[in-house]
Amino acid sequence: MAKRFAFRFETMLKIRRQREDEHKRIVAARLREIAAAQEQLAVFHRQIREELAAIRSRVSATVPIGVTFDLHANLTRKRMDAATFVIGYRTNPHRDHYDVGYSAGEILMKTIRGEVKHVMAWRKMKLLKGGGINGDFLSPMSPIFNAMRKMEKDPRVLSVSDFPVHIWLDYPELGWSTVAVTDGDRTLAEKLADEIADEAVEMTAFEDFVTEEVRNGRSILGLYPATDEQTPKDFAAWRQKNGR
Ligand SMILES: [Zn+2]
Repeated sequence: MAKRFAFRFETMLKIRRQREDEHKRIVAARLREIAAAQEQLAVFHRQIREELAAIRSRVSATVPIGVTFDLHANLTRKRMDAATFVIGYRTNPHRDHYDVGYSAGEILMKTIRGEVKHVMAWRKMKLLKGGGINGDFLSPMSPIFNAMRKMEKDPRVLSVSDFPVHIWLDYPELGWSTVAVTDGDRTLAEKLADEIADEAVEMTAFEDFVTEEVRNGRSILGLYPATDEQTPKDFAAWRQKNGR
C-alpha cells in the first residue's frame, strides 16, 4: 500500500516538475520574444529620429520640414530641432492619420507660398499618464482635445498638439509634450503650449483623485471615465479638500 502510494506520489511530482519546466520554457520563450520586439521597436524609433536629422542635414535650415506623429510619440530635442513644425494625431484609437497629414501638407504649402510664417513652441514635462483609458472622446482626455479645438479656431493658430506619450517606452528623455504652431506669433505659441501643458497637469489631479477613490473601495464604473454625473462633483469637492 505504502509502496503504491509512494509510486503515485513520485509520478505526480514528476508530472508537476515536467509542467513547471514546460511553463518555464514558455515564459522564457515569451520573454525572448518581448526582448526581440523591444529591440526592433528601439531600432525603429532610432531610425525615425535619425531619418529626421538626416533629412535636415541634407537640406538648408530654411527648408520647412513638417512632421506628423502619433500622439504616443516621445518628442525629443533632436527630433524637434530637425523639424520645422510638428503635428500630432488627435484621436485614440487613431483614425485621423489622413486629416493630420493633410493639415501638415496644407501648412507646408502655405509656408512655401509665403502665406504663413510658422512659429513653434513646445513643452516637455516629466509627466506620464498611467495606463488605462485615454480615448479622445472620453474623460479625462476629451476636455483637453476640446480645449485644443477651441484654440485652433483662432486664425493665428496653425495647429496645437498634445503628446501624452506612452508609459511603456524606455527612454531617458521620456515625458508628456505639448506643441503649438502659430502664424508668426511667438508669444501666442508659448502661451498655448503652456495652456495645454497645464491641462495635462490638471488631468493628473483627476487621476490622483480616482486612485484615492478606488483605494477607498469605490468602483471604477462611472468614475473613470467619469460617465457618472456624481463624479465631477466629487472631484470638485476632493480638489477643494486637498488644495489641488
Ligand atoms: Zn499610438
